[in-house]
Amino acid sequence: MDTVMKLFIDQLEENHALPLKAYEYLIDNRTAETTEYLREKAEKARRSVYGNKVYVRGLIEISSFCKNNCLYCGLRRGNREAERYRLTKDEILECCREGAELGFQTFVLQGGEDAYFSDEVVEDIVRAVKAEHPGCAVTLSLGERSRESYQRLYDAGADRYLLRHETADPSHYALLHPEEMSHANRMRCLSDLHSIGYQTGCGIMVSSPGQTTMHLAQDMKFIETFGPQMCGVGPFIPHHATPFKDERAGTVELTCFLLSVIRLIRPTVLLPATTALGSIDPIGREKGILSGANVVMPNLSPASVRKKYELYNGKLSSGAESAQNLEDLRERMRKIGYEVVMDRGDAANIIH
Ligand code: SAH
Ligand code: SF4
Repeated sequence: MDTVMKLFIDQLEENHALPLKAYEYLIDNRTAETTEYLREKAEKARRSVYGNKVYVRGLIEISSFCKNNCLYCGLRRGNREAERYRLTKDEILECCREGAELGFQTFVLQGGEDAYFSDEVVEDIVRAVKAEHPGCAVTLSLGERSRESYQRLYDAGADRYLLRHETADPSHYALLHPEEMSHANRMRCLSDLHSIGYQTGCGIMVSSPGQTTMHLAQDMKFIETFGPQMCGVGPFIPHHATPFKDERAGTVELTCFLLSVIRLIRPTVLLPATTALGSIDPIGREKGILSGANVVMPNLSPASVRKKYELYNGKLSSGAESAQNLEDLRERMRKIGYEVVMDRGDAANIIH
């Protein structure tokens, strides 16, 4: 094995940090052999914190309306073909009831940036979910909001917030987003979420257009210094009605490699094997778990809207992706030596 490569991986395992250039070297010089060496260390690190447990979250896609125009996303406002919907409070509560019956203890409310979901509306929904399911965790993923808004939703009972940073490099960010969106504001949001006390998730798309190894190295450095409790990393997949429709999708191989790196950077991180990973490979989720991921987020949205929440081409929402098929997921995880557990699954370094 490349001795420098081995040295860097050993150093990462030991210190949970590397110089920027070393991350770049790791990514550029990876081989099947070094990837396996890294993967084994990532599995060991995850095992030492979480054993063989895989946590599940019920994902409820509350709105496909979005005021933003991110160039990669099928829900962007510029996509005239998209069918838009939003769930009512009652529909969301019904999803949670169904989820609770299936045993879910975390509900993720995700959606486009839809003005309908004002602070008052979301507060009311969060309070209602928490009142009906005491002890559950509510995760929000509703994009960029003001500090005051994040604070109000936290005070209403929201526990966690997912907001991928998308890229740590401002000029790369500008390539993926229209001018009215700024990298500085995204960073402001993440820092507010963190300081308010949310379990905070950042993350990236792997092989998004214009992404270089240096950008990925910067992303690894950002994850190392920001210290998220969760991290969403999945392959970029083109959507047919976006400016990036002809761009290439990210690979399972690079995504899994990065999952292993991230696990070694933060052994306690809650790291999903994402829907995007499952969408480009029938056993993508299994590969993600074996590379260091420990979370799966099955779809709990009403069946009638699932196809409309189309972030990218071929997004799965049935089969093992569906919350109703938990047994299927359980069996698939059992086959690779992992156990789906139904606890809240807080980050191991969070004390209640
Ligand atoms: N509006 C919220 C939540 C919905 S989008 C937000 O933007 O945070 C959730 C995530 O889906 C985004 O962070 C992005 O990383 C991912 N996503 C969007 N389009 C995608 C695509 N074409 N391929 C892969 N992931 C995509
Ligand atoms: Fe809207 Fe989120 Fe899609 Fe951007 S990524 S267009 S904010 S749903």
